[in-house]
Amino acid sequence: MISKQETLNLSPYMALYDVLIPKDHLLRQINELVDFSFVLDELQSKYCLENGRNAIHPIRMFKYLLLKSIYDLSDADLVERSKYDMSFKYFLDMTPEENVMNSSSLTKFRRLRLQDLYLLDLLINKTVEIAVEKGLLLSKIIMVDATHTQARYNQKSPKEFLREKSKSVRKAVYQLEEEMVGKFPEKPTSNEIEEELQYCRQVVDVVETQSKVAQIPAVKERVNVLKEVIDDYENQWSYSDDPDARVGHKSADTAFFGFKTHIAMSDERIITAAIVTTGEKSDGQYLQELIEKSKEAGMEIETVLGDAAYSGKDNLQYAKTEEIQLISKLNPVITSGSGQRKIEFDYNKDAGMFVCPAGHMAIQKARSGKKNQNKNQHTKYYFDIEKCKVCPMREGCYQEGAKSKTYSVTIKSIEHEEQAAFQETDKFKQLARNRYKIEAKNSELKHPHGYKTAKSAGLFGMEIQGATTIFAVNLKRIIKLLSDKE
Ligand code: SF4
Repeated sequence: MISKQETLNLSPYMALYDVLIPKDHLLRQINELVDFSFVLDELQSKYCLENGRNAIHPIRMFKYLLLKSIYDLSDADLVERSKYDMSFKYFLDMTPEENVMNSSSLTKFRRLRLQDLYLLDLLINKTVEIAVEKGLLLSKIIMVDATHTQARYNQKSPKEFLREKSKSVRKAVYQLEEEMVGKFPEKPTSNEIEEELQYCRQVVDVVETQSKVAQIPAVKERVNVLKEVIDDYENQWSYSDDPDARVGHKSADTAFFGFKTHIAMSDERIITAAIVTTGEKSDGQYLQELIEKSKEAGMEIETVLGDAAYSGKDNLQYAKTEEIQLISKLNPVITSGSGQRKIEFDYNKDAGMFVCPAGHMAIQKARSGKKNQNKNQHTKYYFDIEKCKVCPMREGCYQEGAKSKTYSVTIKSIEHEEQAAFQETDKFKQLARNRYKIEAKNSELKHPHGYKTAKSAGLFGMEIQGATTIFAVNLKRIIKLLSDKE
């Protein structure tokens, strides 16, 4: 059950906030900028209004998630900090003396209340709405790119993963308190996951009851991570091998295991659309959706800037139909000439190679045909047939017994001719120079806001993280633009 109104805070200490939280404090500025009642409108249907115990107000729960993204904290550290940090209490609409909730309530909130909510679109659209209202979105330009996030859980067995986390706790304790050597229980020897979990619980217990350094942040943070991982296993909320994370390629030699967030951002550096996918998805295929979502959010779009991954034939045709200038350099091998294929392979611009539908990158390429003749040249990409022989997707892709598996592409199709001419113009070159802005935004998401690593397992968890992180980053940008305006 939730009360329809947020509680009226009648504490005699409320005036402390006026003294302690300055006018230009980020959390005060966010509270003054955003009317959070939209959260209540969206979440009301997920709560029972008549029965049950009074639940923690959804706006407060949502604000907790926002704080987690702004300050990049674990659930336990977030709740801990909200015990004593007055700016957190103020932001959460708590009285200074109020007790905090248990951090497990956040896991429940994410799992039970945020399902089926399209949180990513909801939060981005809200910030774009604020930016439009404040007269901050004037350009008709968006930039597109994708940023990758490593899965929280690597491709390790559950036992290896738990062992790694408990080892990290022991190591932190030993570094600060040598007397703890020998106080931890015997490490499990069987392959039973339950035994490893039990050992991890004991490690937490020993640190919390016997160590003098349990409250030192370097130890406490690791204990909190271990507790979250134990909790994840107990609730089957996460697994060591994240079921949704996939291998993607950053370059020919470097791969990552995790997710991608495809982003559109206005020239004013406000993110106008985002789509979270598994790591193996190619960037170019999301261009049209990003443009449509940005328009729905309230952007007018005349120009789109992206790297060579976005200059596929479909995207060029779409841009032409929509009368959008696509500032995306042509890659000579980005699209298949015939367009007749049943199975599509994705081009990885960083590696300069195609990736097959099963996620394997070509192992070599070779060019055929002659330059400057009427016939188009082709590039053939060769795949590892040992993988094809056992591939579950080989039907229609690899012919049983064949000595090679290749994928051929036309180097320049007719659709690319116009773009080839356009990319030589001064206008194209000048606009293309602005693309660095979206790379800086990707870095902002990753570094201060922890977007480098997923905070939980699964695509749904990644979407929540994406939604709250982008919401926070957009609000910070709006506040900066407003203060520049003054
Ligand atoms: S058959 Fe080979 S090329 Fe085709 S999807 Fe499978 S591994 Fe990739």
